[in-house]
Amino acid sequence: MFDIIRIPAFKDNYIWLLRKGAAAVVVDPGDASPVLEVLEREGLALTAILITHHHADHQGGVAGLLAHYQATVFGPADESITALSRPLRGGETIALPELGLAFEVIAVPGHTLGHLAYYGSACLFCGDTLFGAGCGRVFEGTMAQMLASLERLAALPERTAVYCAHEYTQANLRFALAVDPGNRLLQQRADEVALARAEGRASVPSTLMQEKATNPFLRCGEPALIAAAQSRVAQANDPLEVFTVLREWKNAF
Ligand code: ZN
Ligand code: FE
Repeated sequence: MFDIIRIPAFKDNYIWLLRKGAAAVVVDPGDASPVLEVLEREGLALTAILITHHHADHQGGVAGLLAHYQATVFGPADESITALSRPLRGGETIALPELGLAFEVIAVPGHTLGHLAYYGSACLFCGDTLFGAGCGRVFEGTMAQMLASLERLAALPERTAVYCAHEYTQANLRFALAVDPGNRLLQQRADEVALARAEGRASVPSTLMQEKATNPFLRCGEPALIAAAQSRVAQANDPLEVFTVLREWKNAF
């Protein structure tokens, strides 16, 4: 089995480092220096870099890491990724023998058009697609693409640990409570996360089970969320209309 080390970066990014023995694989290194620090401190050799999408806070550290380590760079074929050596479009399986695992590559367009998620060993690295109690902004794709991507992730086993790339959960929970106020599990999660954050602990990873019970963007077919959407747009009815209303509402919340 491998370990996962959480490396905070910038204001609220998380870079995930997977390690087994002396080998390390890193997901979305937006900044090289905190990763180099961990690699050196732990005596690890970086063998692979997984990129979910092209935004600088997810790949800005690639060049700095490659200056010190020879690592394979996996990432979206259709986006501009620094030193990309293994272009991916989703549907592939990538072997990482140094960690003793393989990842399934899932195309999750919406936040960006080439956005990928990596799934294996009951862990999901989903970048800026699914967040704790929220989802990424829809910058390049359509609302329909983003909803389909979230539904694709929601179909994974419920025990899946969700390693997203930002500590946004508490702000997301404020919005979730506004649109789904009668949800007991959501209230409970908000209390737990408030305590964790007050104590300086991370709210990530969550589980898919938790997200399905509390994340409004995975609950667009639930009566409470339909009612919330209809309080803004009276004719919002099907999951895509509900998702669109909620996503636009959250943008301005
Ligand atoms: Zn992004
Ligand atoms: Fe980001």
